[in-house]
Amino acid sequence: MKIRDLKLLPTRVGRRHHLIIKIETDEGISGWGESGLIGRELAVMGALRHYRELIIGKNPFNIGAIWQDLYRSQYFEGGRVLTAAISAIDIALHDIKGKALGVPVYQLLGGKHRDWVPLFATTHAPMGPKLLEDAALLMGEGWNIIRTTMHSPHELNEAGESVYEPWESIGPTAHWLNKLREALGSQAVLGIDYHHRLSVAEAASFCQKLGSDTLDFLEEPIRDETPEAYEALRRMTHVPFAIGEEFSSKWQFLPYIERGITNYARVDVCNVGGLTEAMKVAGWAEAHYIDLMPHNPLGPICTAATAHLAASVPNFASLEIRQSPTEQSGFYDERLFPVQHERVGPRLIISDRPGLGVEFDEHAGAHEEFVPDLRLERTRYMRRRDGSLTNW
Ligand SMILES: [Mg+2]
Repeated sequence: MKIRDLKLLPTRVGRRHHLIIKIETDEGISGWGESGLIGRELAVMGALRHYRELIIGKNPFNIGAIWQDLYRSQYFEGGRVLTAAISAIDIALHDIKGKALGVPVYQLLGGKHRDWVPLFATTHAPMGPKLLEDAALLMGEGWNIIRTTMHSPHELNEAGESVYEPWESIGPTAHWLNKLREALGSQAVLGIDYHHRLSVAEAASFCQKLGSDTLDFLEEPIRDETPEAYEALRRMTHVPFAIGEEFSSKWQFLPYIERGITNYARVDVCNVGGLTEAMKVAGWAEAHYIDLMPHNPLGPICTAATAHLAASVPNFASLEIRQSPTEQSGFYDERLFPVQHERVGPRLIISDRPGLGVEFDEHAGAHEEFVPDLRLERTRYMRRRDGSLTNW
C-alpha cells in the first residue's frame, strides 16, 4: 500500500476553524487527521503542503519511520507548527492502518485497558450564583469531575479587544471556588483552568486565597516556556498542577515529568505529534505515577484519537470533552461527522469500528466557512487597561 495524496480540508465546526486532513492510499483506504494549532491554521497548512510532497509514495504502515522523517530529516527539526502538521498526518495514518487491518486503533497501541473513557465537564458559568447552579446540575447528571474557568468580565476597550486584569480576577475566582467546594462537598473533583493568565506571584496569591481542600487540580496558571518558573510556584502552593496542553513534543514534557512539576499530563494528540508521540509521553508519565488528563478542545476527530490513546494506557485520569452538558457548542455536529464515538453522560464509549471510528463528510464540510482573517483574530487579544498585551 502507498500513500497517494494528502488533502487539506479546512472547515468551520461550531464557533471554530478546524484543520482537517484526509490521506488517501492507492488501495482506496483513506484516513482522517486533524491539527490542533488553533489560530495558526495558515502556517500549519503551509507545513502540510510541504509534507504532502514528502509522504506521497510511502507505505502508510510505517508510521513511526514517517514520523521521524517529518520531524528530523532536515537540519532544523520539530517546532510547534511542524508537530501540529505531523500530528494530523500521524492520526490519519493510524486511521488507515486500523481500517486496512480491520481493527480499531487501540489494537495498534497495545489493546484496551478500559471499556469507556471517564470524561470531565467544564462549566463556563461566570463566578457567582450561576456557577453553583451549573455545577449542581452537572453533579445531578453524574458528572463528578468539574472544571471551571476564571473570573473574566466581558469588558472591551475602544478597539473592541477584551480587557483582562489579573488582580481583579483572582479574588472573585477564589471566593466562588471556595463556595463551590462547600456546596458540592468532598465527593466532587474540582479543577480550574486559568489559561496561563497569571504571573508566578499572582498564581501564588490566588492559591493563598483558596481553602486547603478547595481544588483538586489547577490547570495552567502561568505560561509554560520556563519550567523553573513553575518550580518556583510549586514551592509556594500544594495544589496539584495539570500542565502540558501546549507542548509540541515529548522533549517539552521532559522537565515537567522528570522534575515532578506537573501532576496531570495535559497531552494534546493534535499538537504533541499525534498518537506516536502521545504514547511515548504516556509511558514516561507512567514511570513517574502521573496520569494523563488529555486536552481535547476540538471535535470528533481529536476526541476519537484521544479515546484510543485513553483506551490503551494504564495511567489515565479523565478526558476533557468540549461539549459542555449545559451548553451547545456545535463541535460534534452529526451533519459534518456522521460517524463518531458515542457519549453517555460522563462516559465516552470507545468505538470498536476499524480505524479511528469517526467519519467526516467532506462535502458538507466544504460548505462551511473557513476564513482565517487575521484581523478577526485580534478580537481574541486580551489587553490590560493600560493598553499592554496580556495572556489570552
Ligand atoms: Mg487549558
